[in-house]
Formats: sequence, structure tokens, C-alpha cells
Amino acid sequence: MTGAVEPLLLMALRVEQDIFLIRQRGREVAAAVGLEHQDQVRLATALSEVARDLLHAAAGADVAFGAVFEAVDGRHHLRVDLAPVRPLPDGWYEPRSGAVARLVDTLSVVGSEGDTVVRMSRRIPANAQALTPERLAELRAELGQVVPGSALDELATQNAQLIAALDEVRSQRDELAVLNAELEETNRGVMALYTQLSEELEETNRGVVALYAELDEKSAQLRAASESKSRFLANVSHELRAPVTAIIGLGRLLTDSASDPLTAAQSEQIGLIRSSATDLLTLVNDLLDLAKAESGRIEPDWAEVDLRVVFGQLRGTLRALSARPEVELVVEEPPTPAVVVSDEVLLAQVLRNLLHNGLKFTERGEVRMRAERLGDRWRLTVADTGAGIPAELQERIFEEFYQVPGNTRVRGTGLGLPYARRLVTLLGGTLELTSEPGRGSTFTVTLPVERA
Ligand code: ADP
Repeated sequence: MTGAVEPLLLMALRVEQDIFLIRQRGREVAAAVGLEHQDQVRLATALSEVARDLLHAAAGADVAFGAVFEAVDGRHHLRVDLAPVRPLPDGWYEPRSGAVARLVDTLSVVGSEGDTVVRMSRRIPANAQALTPERLAELRAELGQVVPGSALDELATQNAQLIAALDEVRSQRDELAVLNAELEETNRGVMALYTQLSEELEETNRGVVALYAELDEKSAQLRAASESKSRFLANVSHELRAPVTAIIGLGRLLTDSASDPLTAAQSEQIGLIRSSATDLLTLVNDLLDLAKAESGRIEPDWAEVDLRVVFGQLRGTLRALSARPEVELVVEEPPTPAVVVSDEVLLAQVLRNLLHNGLKFTERGEVRMRAERLGDRWRLTVADTGAGIPAELQERIFEEFYQVPGNTRVRGTGLGLPYARRLVTLLGGTLELTSEPGRGSTFTVTLPVERA
């Protein structure tokens, strides 16, 4: 193929000075075909290195080398062949430095008609001007016209290139130093930020830990306070029960028909003493119950409870209580199978309390208790058509001693509902209230069918 292509430039290499010349022409050809500046320098350097090697290989013998610059594959490569015009004394040549090969794309030593040809090539960038036959002819003419400079000229050019390269290296080194300094600065900033953040985190953690410790302490104090309150209530109630019972008994003795007759005023006073003492006994008993429930000393006696039995007993005992003929007590029959795992006594206590309240606070209409099975729960409701409870007081009535103002002419202690709620909680359920003032109230006990 080489033979078919007319070379861009042909030149001879015979003496040391020609090394400069071949370097200079190499660069010119490279520039002419469109290689970039860096590549021009690379090719020129590779050429001068190989030229020096070749002259060295000729070892002073009068061997001239021909340099052929040609464009290969139409436009893609610039190829340079350096070949001795006459055979080398030693017959074969090896390039001395591997580094030279890195300056070009290919560097090889090939045999050509029994002698050495050093062939190197460099790719021409795609954006270079297309090497059409016309352009090649033009290049050939241009290159033919250029008057080669002297060795000194080439040396000067080479120096200038070297200085430029050194300058570039220096400026890159300076840039690198600046970059390093900036990086260090940033690192220091990041480290400072990190330290600050971790200090803040530690500080916050310490705060949280302290807060939790305080919280634990407070809840321990609260528990202790609640326990001592329960203990106090239990003790006081217990101590009060005996004298109060004695007062009631003595009152009964005094008013007994077998005793000495009393004046009308005396019997009335004794009646007042007895009724006050009875109220006091109720309060003492309620307090004792509540204190027991709060201190966790009530242990439910779990068993299968038949709701129909419980409902039946309550129907019987409370019917006697509903003194008003305007109020009907309705205890519906629970749907079967009406079993729940619970404590029968405690459950009856709760329902009795609710029914009792319903009867106490209802002037007319009805008090109705019913049971409903909802999946794994029972819903027991006690609904009345009484005065109802304003929304803002619906939670307060579950507080100890709280009674809705205005209802006070009805006797009570304000301890029934808090006690009932505690018992229901012990049984694994909930006690809720919905009420509409003037229309009535519904207390709902929800209990798990099986023991929770
Ligand atoms: P007591 O009935 O002994 O006063 P409770 O704790 O049982 O104590 O009830 C607290 C208060 O809640 C009652 O005083 C009453 O004001 C109100 N209350 C309870 N049940 C009803 C009800 N069914 N209808 C209207 N008010 C009620």
C-alpha cells in the first residue's frame, strides 16, 4: 500500500545536524496534517530519538536514512518510516528506549527487503481537515516550499517548548498546592463542624438521660405517694369502722321498744345520729374498697361466669330498690351462650353500682341493662332516661369524691364510679360513659370473653 501512496515528504538523515532537521520537519508535517500541538511535539521528539539511535547504530559508517512521511488510510494516520538507504553494518537495529514508544501510537521495527525499517504512526484527530487527494497535493507543495531552519533554530524552538512545558508543570504544581491548601482548610472546617456536632449531640444526650432519670424519680415518688394514700385510707377506714358500727348499734338499742321510752325530740335526734352514722359507715366501706382496689390487693377469682345468672340476681335485688313507680327497671335476658371468664362477685358489684346510680338519678322513664356479644368481647350497658351528665363532667365523675353539682340531694359518696372503673380494669375491660343532659346516660362495660 505504501508504494501506491505518494509520500508527503522525503528527506535524508546522514549527520548529527540532520537530527534537528528531522525533528523540525516532523513537527511541520504533523502540524500540516492536523495533529494537536502536544502530539506534534511527541512525534517530533520520537523522531529525533529514533534518528539519534539509528545514527548511533550506523556507528559512524556512511549510512544515510530516508525518512518518509505519509498519510495512511486516506486520512486517519500519519506514518513515518525511517529506513537506511544502505544496509546497516550490524544488519539489525533495536530501539534503545521503550519510553519512545509511548510518545506515538505504534512504533515497530520491520524488515523491508532484508533491512531494518523503523515505522511509527500517530492517529490524526477526527476533527482535523480531511486529507483529500487535493489537500494532500497541497500539503506536499507546502512542505516542499518550507525552507528548513538551521540546527540552532530547531534548538531554540526545542528550548522554547521545553520552557513552556516546564512552565506548565510549574503552574500545575502551584494549582495543586493551592488546591491542597483549600482541601486542608475544608477538612479543618469539616472536622470542627463534626466536633461541634458531636459535642452538641453529647450535650443533648446528657440532657435526655438526666430528664429520664428525673422522670423515673418522679414516677417512683408518685407511686410511693399513691401507695401511702391507699395505705392511709385503708388504715383510717378500718379504724373508723368499729366505732361507727358501735354508734349505729347503740342508737338501735336506745330506740328499741324494750328500752326506756324517749321523748319525741330525743327519738328524732337519735334517728338523725343513726342515719348519719349509717352514711359514715357507707363512706368508710367505700373508702376501704377503693383503697384495696388501688393497692392492687384485689385478686380476681377467675371462673366461667354465666351472665344470665348475674343478670337474674341483680334483677331480683334491685327491683326492691326502685322505689319510684315512674321508673321501670328492665334487665334484658343476655343472648346465649352467655358465658364470660371473669370474677362473678366483682362483676356483679360493678353492675349493681351502675344500676343503683341509674335508679338514683332517674326521675321517670326506665333504667335498662342489656348484654351484647361483639366478637371476642361482651358489651354490657346500663342506660337510663335520667338527668344526664354534661360533656365536660363526663370524665370527672370517675374521680374520687366527685359529684355533679345539683345532684347532691341524692345521697352518695362519689366513690362508686372510680371504684367500678378500677374493678373493670382489673377484669381486663373498660368502663365508658355516653350521656346527653336531659335525655339520659349510658354506662358501657366492655369485657373480654376469655381472660386477657
Ligand atoms: P355517688 O353515686 O356515690 O355520688 P358515684 O361515683 O357513683 O358516686 O357517682 C359520682 C357522680 O356521678 C354522682 O354523684 C352523680 O352526680 C353522677 N352520676 C353517676 N351516675 C349517674 C347517672 N346514671 N345519671 C346521672 N348522674 C350520675
